[in-house]
Amino acid sequence: MRPDRLNPLFIETASLKGVGPGLARPLEKLSLTRVRDLAYHLPDRFVQRRAVSDLDEASVGENIVVALTPVEYRSSAGRGPFRVLASDGPGNICAVTYFGRNTGWAKKTLPLGEKKWVAGRLDQFGQMLQIVHPDHVSEASGALLGALCEPVYALSEGLTQGRVAALVEQAIGHAPALPEWIEPGLFDKMQWPAWRDALELAHKGEHVSARDRLAYDELLANSLALMLVRNANRAKTGTPLRGDGSLRAKLNLPFGLTGAQKRTIAEIEADLQQAAPMLRLLQGDVGSGKTVVALEAMLVAVEAGTQAALLAPTEILARQHFETLSKMLSGTGVNIALLTGRDKGRARESILMGLVDGSIQICVGTHAIFQDTVSYKNLALVVIDEQHRFGVGQRLMLTQKGRRTPHCLAMTATPIPRTLTLAQYGEMDVSRLDEMPPGRQPIDTRVVAVERMDDVVSALSRHLETGQQAYWVCPMVRELETEDIAAAEARFAELELRFGDTVVLVHGQLRPEVKDAAMERFARGDAKLLVATTVIEVGVDVPNATLMVIEQAERFGLAQLHQLRGRVGRGDGKSTCLLLRGSELSETARKRLALMRETQDGFRIAEEDLELRGGGELLGTRQSGDTPFRVASLEQIQRLLPLAHDDARLLIERDGGLTRERGEAARLLLYLFERDWGVQLLRGG
Ligand code: ADP
Ligand code: MG
Repeated sequence: MRPDRLNPLFIETASLKGVGPGLARPLEKLSLTRVRDLAYHLPDRFVQRRAVSDLDEASVGENIVVALTPVEYRSSAGRGPFRVLASDGPGNICAVTYFGRNTGWAKKTLPLGEKKWVAGRLDQFGQMLQIVHPDHVSEASGALLGALCEPVYALSEGLTQGRVAALVEQAIGHAPALPEWIEPGLFDKMQWPAWRDALELAHKGEHVSARDRLAYDELLANSLALMLVRNANRAKTGTPLRGDGSLRAKLNLPFGLTGAQKRTIAEIEADLQQAAPMLRLLQGDVGSGKTVVALEAMLVAVEAGTQAALLAPTEILARQHFETLSKMLSGTGVNIALLTGRDKGRARESILMGLVDGSIQICVGTHAIFQDTVSYKNLALVVIDEQHRFGVGQRLMLTQKGRRTPHCLAMTATPIPRTLTLAQYGEMDVSRLDEMPPGRQPIDTRVVAVERMDDVVSALSRHLETGQQAYWVCPMVRELETEDIAAAEARFAELELRFGDTVVLVHGQLRPEVKDAAMERFARGDAKLLVATTVIEVGVDVPNATLMVIEQAERFGLAQLHQLRGRVGRGDGKSTCLLLRGSELSETARKRLALMRETQDGFRIAEEDLELRGGGELLGTRQSGDTPFRVASLEQIQRLLPLAHDDARLLIERDGGLTRERGEAARLLLYLFERDWGVQLLRGG
């Protein structure tokens, strides 16, 4: 239960003064449903104005506050703007211009002959000075001169800056003073303001230390919650698994394991022997050989007389895993099954039976393998491929399936920087496959201007003539999904015209059967060219595909580009990746693509991408998608997360139950940032 003293912060915004039904939707669109959300709706930036005694003192482009007296109204023909010509003290004329507004309103705001204080940006229109849609017009100077620095908030349709500012002020008025949860030594050293002061200051101006403090709070809450989960997990009982190696000895692998694979397998084996359930993250770049590591781990479970499950994010990938694993397992006598949402009827029934009676030892599938209707005889290990697709909550829920908590191995190919690994996964144990299997050819990566499309298609044509296959990737950005799909379909039509029916198309809006059929044709080699949106991002192993063309490469995240590129370079042949770029590129975009050309080290790409995107901004950008944070920017995460992490550990070491003074304060913090699952674990024991 949330502590009572936080209740004022969890009042619904709909019940604030001045919020009618009309504002409910715009507020909801910005996720501002509670007073707390409003208080943390920090400005994107600030407008800094200067008070000037007359227009001679101001420069064009400057935000000013100046006293003006309207002298003439000027309407323009048709849909043109309405202008109020106004004079400053010395007699300079400036137009106050309104587009598409009702002129009656403008006349009422600026009656002829009455001096008003006007705040806005001074522009030049032809020979005339003008202020378009002033931010404020007021009779008295006081209010305007008192707010020369004004916040600019993210808005949604139906909201204005003034409206949001007023609501934020109300929200902060509701905020109670809260006890300090930051470690006193750190708090003094950083000279941060107290929580409530920090909130106020952060809305008033570019107050770095206030902003840092609020970001730090969020990071601390996150680290603390993840650490509590980790501790609770350590306190649970799993099944200690000790394999005798008999099945692993029968595995017929066409290669020897790399040093990194051997080391990782040993780490996992050691975890599995413990009674505390394993919670380990296996990070390894695309192609680093995670599958065989997962298989060895699952065989330990089978050798120990239990079952293992492998969860894949998509049907395609589940199928591919199933096929790869089945091949490797032939001759071991291990019974493996594939279970997806599409299996129905008798086939499904027989798999369910096999899982209950234990005759199926390894189950591969999509989230269908954890539906309520699926029970296991003794599931002791869950492997989750591509962890980032699933939230922490879902993972925890899944692992509650067995009578005892199963060991959990999460695998990800998303090379995220170390700081973000910590933020995303907390204190999970991490194994890194930092060594590629031998014999990999480097991928020749080139950045090509889109104007050279004809050359690219000719190169593709020559490539296909040699009998090798290729991918053609079109971008897919969620907000514009239909447009993107239309573009991909258009490109497919063009390429099909040129290369005939050896071209197949795969995108997210196709029916699964159609998608699979296309993928299968490509995997068999019947289809030579696969046009796709990013559905091929994960998995998919076709060694004969050695060319990849990526359209509008600048629209992709680097981690994503890196994963896509990993689809080629899988065989012995030389592979090429062509990054097509648009004609207008920002400096950052140019650097990011250059980085892709320069290196194939996913971890280096991730680190430098973070630098390129995160650096150089005072207020920072809240990069929601990438991180679980709404207050902390990427830059703040890098700078402050290590501190928060250490602080969280210290707190838990000293007061693991969060019952002493600072611990109590920290509980408030967990609720404040909705990381209270951490607290609930404390109580549940
Ligand atoms: P990922 O980490 O991307 O899941 P996979 O497990 O799919 O990588 O492995 C990529 C390819 O490398 C597969 O074709 C696999 O058979 C091969 N492979 C894995 N380990 C080795 C190894 N030690 N030596 C040679 N090839 C290997
Ligand atoms: Mg894989």
